[in-house]
Amino acid sequence: MASLQTLMQDYDQHLTRLEELRGLLEERRAAARADLAAAVAAGSATLAALASRQSTAVEAALARMDRGLYGTCLRCGAFIPYGVLRRVPHEQLCPECGQAGEIPAPRTALVGASGGGRPEAAVPPGQGQGIEAGNGP
Ligand SMILES: [Zn+2]
Repeated sequence: MASLQTLMQDYDQHLTRLEELRGLLEERRAAARADLAAAVAAGSATLAALASRQSTAVEAALARMDRGLYGTCLRCGAFIPYGVLRRVPHEQLCPECGQAGEIPAPRTALVGASGGGRPEAAVPPGQGQGIEAGNGP
C-alpha cells in the first residue's frame, strides 16, 4: 500500500509544519504582547492599537489551530500556501482573496520586514510588568 504510506508521510509533514507554525505564532504572540507593553509604557495609543490588533490576530490564529481550521482562507476556504504562512503565520486569507483586499491588513507595517530584520521596541525590558500583572488568572 504505497499510497497509504504516501498519505502518512504527507500527514507527518503536515503535522511537522503545523507544529513549526504554532511555534512561530507563539513567538509572534510574545512579541506582540511585549510591543503592547512597550507602547503603553511609552504612552503611544497608535502603537498600542497596532500591537493590540496584531496580538488579537495571532490569538485568533492559535484558536483556529486548536479547532483544526488553521491555514484555510476565511473567505473562500482554500488552503493558504505554506510559504505565505511562514511569512505571516496569522494570515487569514489566501493570496487571491488577500489581493481583493476585503479585510484591510496593516501591510505597510509588514513590508519592511521582508529582509528579516524586525525593528525592536526602543524600550528596555522590564517595563511591561503592569500589563503582565493585569493578565493573571
Ligand atoms: Zn480565499
